[in-house]
Amino acid sequence: MDTKCFDVAVIGAGPAGMAVACACAERGLTTAVVAPQPTRPWPQRFGVWGAELRGRLEAESFAEVFSRPFVQLDERRRIELGTEYARLDTQTLHDHLHARARDVVLFDASVTEVVHAPRVSHLHLREGEPIQATVVVDASGAGSPFVQREGRDAPAFQAAYGEVIDVKAHPYRQGEMALMDFRGDEEGVPTFLYAMPLSPTRVFVEETSLVARPAVPYETLQRRLYRRLHRMGLEVESTLDRELCLIPMGGSLPRRSQRIVAFGAAGGMVHPATGYQVARALRLAPVAAEALERGLRTGPLHAARSAYEVIWPRAQLRAWELYRFGMLVLCDLDRVQLRAFMDAFFRLPPATWQGFMQGSLSPTEICSAMWRVFGFATSDLRQTLLAMGTNRRGSRLLLRAAMPGNPL
Ligand SMILES: Cc1cc2nc3c(=O)[nH]c(=O)nc-3n(C[C@H](O)[C@H](O)[C@H](O)COP(=O)(O)OP(=O)(O)OC[C@H]3O[C@@H](n4cnc5c(N)ncnc54)[C@H](O)[C@@H]3O)c2cc1C
Repeated sequence: MDTKCFDVAVIGAGPAGMAVACACAERGLTTAVVAPQPTRPWPQRFGVWGAELRGRLEAESFAEVFSRPFVQLDERRRIELGTEYARLDTQTLHDHLHARARDVVLFDASVTEVVHAPRVSHLHLREGEPIQATVVVDASGAGSPFVQREGRDAPAFQAAYGEVIDVKAHPYRQGEMALMDFRGDEEGVPTFLYAMPLSPTRVFVEETSLVARPAVPYETLQRRLYRRLHRMGLEVESTLDRELCLIPMGGSLPRRSQRIVAFGAAGGMVHPATGYQVARALRLAPVAAEALERGLRTGPLHAARSAYEVIWPRAQLRAWELYRFGMLVLCDLDRVQLRAFMDAFFRLPPATWQGFMQGSLSPTEICSAMWRVFGFATSDLRQTLLAMGTNRRGSRLLLRAAMPGNPL
């Protein structure tokens, strides 16, 4: 085993950890990744907006590209989104990152503790000798125990139950996929169908709760999915695979003054209102690596600071509070209001709603988008939005957006 001191040790071999480790190694930094079974395939099916990663990933990383994603609010109202949506080929993405990681040293181990000395950090492992590194990147997923956070805001959850099913035929035409299909959603917390045809007789169907607190249980989602498939007249011939999805969203962000650089889901990078994260991690990995390299010339604390400055610049912190406000709103809307909200949201110009979903708008653009959604909203929804903007939780987030870093 290599016992030298690495420039960078990354905890976790998920998409975020591998992307940042590759980017560090490609800049000539000696890099380690520590994770149990670090080459193990990732189980998730990642969906991304095509434009987000076009040109950044090899073409074969896109398993399916849908040119006609849509949102179906009820029997009559269907919104054609007019932009590409893609499913990533998780195995290909995984293999590409591992191929790029040829200079990264992989350790098959779990980190139990990180202890900082003035110029080096020691990663204690459940299995084997400690590893030393000048700077530690924590990409160990949501709920990491190693990251200090700015506050104690509890997350809300996106929950979904999905199956890949074979059917005689499905209703989706060439290029179509249902980003949200609300038809027949008739009780309790709102959920919708997310459906991706994989062939003329195979489809991935997922009953999804966009964001809720507490999480909608899997049994509820599964029951609703089966009812929905029955209503749609889809006869399931066989079930090939299942997906259980629980994504914590909108918890407190990492403290920017700490020595550990939190990245990916560990670093609060999951979009609080949509649950998307992977594209963001892939985009930010080279930027974070460049900042780490620059900062490492002056020591570990500088390296961490300079990484946090590019991952969480002040404008992004303000934007995140606004997205978290969006999450609060979504958690509190009932079924009718959620549909009215989506109807208003997708009336925004495509670049604006896409920017919102990808988390790439500036705080001013988000505020302007929110006002426009308010303007498009029904009067019932407007009253609810006003109440949320002025109640204690909502106004706290809006104030924090004006004064980021303030532990209001
Ligand atoms: C089912 C599902 C579907 C999702 N779909 C999407 C989607 O379509 N689009 C999207 O953008 N996001 C999606 N997400 C959300 C999020 O993007 C993913 O969870 C993503 O995998 C997070 O990447 P990550 O690398 O930050 O963490 P993870 O993928 O959670 O990886 C964490 C890594 O850390 C390791 N680890 C954990 N603890 C330790 C330890 N103590 N020591 C060493 N290693 C450790 C783990 O073994 C793993 O290798 C989905 C999430 C789920 C659960």
